[in-house]
Amino acid sequence: MADGHQDAVKPFETLTAWEQANYSAHKYAKDALRDYVTDECPPIPTTIGEGDTWLLTLDAVPVTSEIKKTIYNSKYNDEGKSFWMVRLQIRYDQCNIIEWDIVRRTSVMCSGEQRKRRTKHMANIGPVGTVLHRRKARDIDMCARCKMEETKIHIVTCQGPDTEQKFLTAMETVDDWMRTGPNQFAIAIRELLRAHRNRTRPRWHLVDDEDTIQTMKQQWSLSKVSLLWGFLHTGWRPIIDRHFKGSRKSSARWLSILCGRIWGITEQLWEHRNTIEHGVDANNHLAEERHSELNEQIDAIFDRVPALRYLPLTSRHFFTQNKAWRKRCKLRDKRKWIRDADVVLKRYEEIRNLSHTARNFENFLISPSAQHGNNDDDD
Ligand SMILES: [Zn+2]
Repeated sequence: MADGHQDAVKPFETLTAWEQANYSAHKYAKDALRDYVTDECPPIPTTIGEGDTWLLTLDAVPVTSEIKKTIYNSKYNDEGKSFWMVRLQIRYDQCNIIEWDIVRRTSVMCSGEQRKRRTKHMANIGPVGTVLHRRKARDIDMCARCKMEETKIHIVTCQGPDTEQKFLTAMETVDDWMRTGPNQFAIAIRELLRAHRNRTRPRWHLVDDEDTIQTMKQQWSLSKVSLLWGFLHTGWRPIIDRHFKGSRKSSARWLSILCGRIWGITEQLWEHRNTIEHGVDANNHLAEERHSELNEQIDAIFDRVPALRYLPLTSRHFFTQNKAWRKRCKLRDKRKWIRDADVVLKRYEEIRNLSHTARNFENFLISPSAQHGNNDDDD
């Protein structure tokens, strides 16, 4: 394909847009090079300086100066959308009724750490019971708060002790923000979130405004978690636009901040779940047990570590911190370190056992007397 002869096998029209572009780029490059050589390779004027942007042109027609963004939008934007639609169980034909702009804005507004956690949570690779169980990091998939199966959705729907209080506290932050928006909208959002948490149908009759009820129903049928994770139906925007008409407020910004606060519900209930899961709760020694198990493995690893100068330079950093420091790490970091350190040491032990030269050389370095034939492995 990259040789520019794809057309010899298939007619140009039957190629995909990417194959056609690849073919054309190859052809243009070849033509340009031929012209350049024909002109006896004149010096190329470098007009672009550091920090200047490139303008991409085709046949002298400007295409874009934001090359990265254009490529991203034409290819990855759609892939990103379909990725999330599958994860959120939204039907493909509903792609155009989601406020993708708000999804993006909400994501830009939060910290990198938050974004990572939220993404993992939505993609169902966050550390909830069912995922940990599947990965064999845990024997049970049960929720520490109510002993039911702990899925990503369960974090918010859990009815264990104190969860309702936590939910209402998080809702206050959402309510605070909605005070500046339309009243009917606030009732609808509050009711949708409450219904999701309690796994009941929303009480549609609480809302009087016809537009708002319609959008509320559409949001609900989009996917129950869509609102919770900031995937809004496009019907909300005109309602907010009408409300802010004549003011200088941006409804996109207002909705993004709202979505950020709605995310706070999941985040606060997640934090609550963690204090129960890892807390000093007398009923829950699970985390402590796991730590002490890993600490034993850390001891075993340190018993195997040779003098650092025998390890390759690139592997030494695994052992520059002492045992006590390793034992203070988080569970996840401990597991990762044990796995990596074990690989490094196994490799070292393997070489040492297989190679006489390596063993002799090491012995020579350890004990100066080895060079006088004290080594019984000498051939
Ligand atoms: Zn629970």
